[in-house]
Amino acid sequence: MSQNELNAKEKVLFGKSTNPSNIEPLKLTMDSQLKFRCHPEVSCFTACCGNIKIVLTPYDILMLTRRLQIPPHEFLHTYTTPTYLEKTDMPGVAIKLREEDNKCPFVTPEGCTVYTDRPTACRYYPVGMADFREGGSKDADGNEVTPDEEKFFFLVKEDHCKGHEEDKLWTVGEWRADQGVDVRDDMNKKWLRLIMRRKSFGHQANLSEQAKRMFFMASTDLNHFRRFIFESSFLDTYVLDEKLIEKIKDDDVELMLFSFDYLAHSLFGAHVPGMNIKEEKIQEKVAQIKQRQDDAVVSAVQDYEDLKKQRDK
Ligand code: SF4
Ligand code: SF4
Repeated sequence: MSQNELNAKEKVLFGKSTNPSNIEPLKLTMDSQLKFRCHPEVSCFTACCGNIKIVLTPYDILMLTRRLQIPPHEFLHTYTTPTYLEKTDMPGVAIKLREEDNKCPFVTPEGCTVYTDRPTACRYYPVGMADFREGGSKDADGNEVTPDEEKFFFLVKEDHCKGHEEDKLWTVGEWRADQGVDVRDDMNKKWLRLIMRRKSFGHQANLSEQAKRMFFMASTDLNHFRRFIFESSFLDTYVLDEKLIEKIKDDDVELMLFSFDYLAHSLFGAHVPGMNIKEEKIQEKVAQIKQRQDDAVVSAVQDYEDLKKQRDK
């Protein structure tokens, strides 16, 4: 990663900005009003598409690969750079800025070439959302949830952004609907919850390298994840509903949503309705653990006897 990229500002994705001085110190609700308009005639047009860090969600990657009609691995190699997500050790990707001008590879003087499929972070700007409270209340399945009334919004105001000087008035709700943020929030929420879970567990809770690799694979490359489901021993290990199996065979969005459930279950032990390990696999595992324990006892007894013999000599 270049120094410029390291210095890049992080667009608001998780409801936080890396530069708090740009955040208006005011909690907004869905009904709060803001004056803002971004269009090709503003003097700063596309200024916000450079010197930034845009973290991609799995849904962003899915939409962009469809748009560009390339497979995920090609997209990852061409357009992204590795990053850690929201100050955790969870691996993810951000858009790789162009070497020559440190701008997003999708920007041209005429604007964003992938506008209708632009990432979540680009849609939020300039309205951030504070959500996914760490240690929040739990739903019936033990998942952390943030009731609507506990969400709030805030405005990011940067000097270079002239959109705030325009006359168009919106409520936060209208702005979000116009930017297609609600759909993205729906698609991203279980994935964001995984990262928040990791954050609230802290680094002292061990997450193996294998688990992190699985998280990365499922979050960035659905082709690989599908192969993992259908070409490994996965279906010998888990009992899954036949209809679900049929759905995730061909439907990428369903597969992505399933991957979030699988990660919650396998990485954090979350209870996910309909996802159960086959009884015989549990028994096999128990037998393996018991065998290891028996071996350890035999070995400890042997050590004890050896030491005793040495002492008695
Ligand atoms: S994806 Fe589009 S809107 Fe987002 S930074 Fe790139 S050019 Fe700008
Ligand atoms: S008005 Fe703001 S959001 Fe629009 S191009 Fe300018 S800097 Fe970017």
